[in-house]
Amino acid sequence: MGSRGFDLAVVGGGVIGLAHAYVAARAGQRVCVIDKDPRANGASIRNFGFITVTGQERGDSWRLARRTRDVWAEVAPQAGIRIEQEGLYLTARSPEAVSVIEGFLATEMGEGCRLLSADEFRGLSDGLGGGDLQGALFSPHEVRVESRTAIATLSAWLAEVQGVTFFNETVVFEAAPPVLATSRGPIEAGAVVVCPGDDFVTLYPDRIAAYGLRRCRLSMLKTADPGPRLPGALMSDLSLTRYRGYAALPEARALEAKLRAAHPQAYEHGVHLIVAQGADGGLIVGDSHHYADLPGPFAPAGAEAAILDEYARAVGRPAPPVVERWTGVYASADERTYLIDTPQPGVRLVIVTSGTGASTGFAIAERVIGDLLGLKTEAAA
Ligand SMILES: Cc1cc2nc3c(=O)[nH]c(=O)nc-3n(C[C@H](O)[C@H](O)[C@H](O)COP(=O)(O)OP(=O)(O)OC[C@H]3O[C@@H](n4cnc5c(N)ncnc54)[C@H](O)[C@@H]3O)c2cc1C
Repeated sequence: MGSRGFDLAVVGGGVIGLAHAYVAARAGQRVCVIDKDPRANGASIRNFGFITVTGQERGDSWRLARRTRDVWAEVAPQAGIRIEQEGLYLTARSPEAVSVIEGFLATEMGEGCRLLSADEFRGLSDGLGGGDLQGALFSPHEVRVESRTAIATLSAWLAEVQGVTFFNETVVFEAAPPVLATSRGPIEAGAVVVCPGDDFVTLYPDRIAAYGLRRCRLSMLKTADPGPRLPGALMSDLSLTRYRGYAALPEARALEAKLRAAHPQAYEHGVHLIVAQGADGGLIVGDSHHYADLPGPFAPAGAEAAILDEYARAVGRPAPPVVERWTGVYASADERTYLIDTPQPGVRLVIVTSGTGASTGFAIAERVIGDLLGLKTEAAA
């Protein structure tokens, strides 16, 4: 490999690496992205592509998500990425769930959101919703992309239009500017951002170990087209006890006690419901959460059953036939939603540790690039 000088080398071609490449290239920097796989194959292509604002942890994460959503809205049309859906509908099946939604709407995070009656939701969704539907939270803030194609499209646009150089099938085993040591020879770069996803051992293993990270494995499904069109991405009341923006509200305690007693299998497998409809009408449905240092590939059938049960309760109909199954893994920490570390001068290590990278990545990248390269970026306050 010829060694050419870059202003910035990004290690990792997942959504976090691409976000850093975009922000630096937009500012006129010469950028390369290096990934060990032929194309992105990690968490970034396995997710819902759901750029979630409402429900993110109050404060920093919520602000990062609002800014990241704006950047997706700016980048997607330029890069030829379709916005598949807009907005979020979170159905509530008990008075306790409605109380959490009301508590949420009373905070600053409720801006632009509202509580729909059960009939309003049914009217918008071709009559979806079980007999016990009490209402639904509507949030206008979300956008959704089809990650399995969007990440490749974003990479191609960065290469062709933004002038980013991609080195694939290349492992970086030392990142010490001005030179990175790779499995295909040296690459010169003035600064480096390492976005390794859940690879905790190839670069800076001791720095990463200090954060006490684990991995989280999620089960995901795709179903056939159910017929009705969803008005936006759909969640159910289980999410009110999982997403930190709701779960930290005092009203969530009574709901969680009730749901844990009623649906122990869902809590055993860390299940909550997200349903997103693709252009072909099929539904991406998930997910479960199993935590370990190495969760392994053996996804329990009980997790899938709990996801499909929750779908039937929330939608009021059995799920259409499952046409695909997969798992995904992301880095996880109890106490932080992301980390930005400086393992040595000129290098930043960036890991999203909460399963929210598609929703917060661009805004995190604006902060990191602004600081690392001394550039003015529109970092979220
Ligand atoms: C099933 C699932 C559903 C999810 N749903 C959502 C969602 O709807 N919305 C949301 O915001 N987030 C969601 N997430 C979380 C989100 O997908 C992650 O936070 C995000 O993809 C992390 O991106 P990343 O770039 O850090 O990691 P990855 O996508 O894993 O990419 C890391 C890359 O780094 C490369 N790499 C690592 N080390 C080296 C090295 N030394 N040399 C070369 N290459 C290296 C790897 O090959 C890999 O391609 C979900 C995650 C999963 C698994």
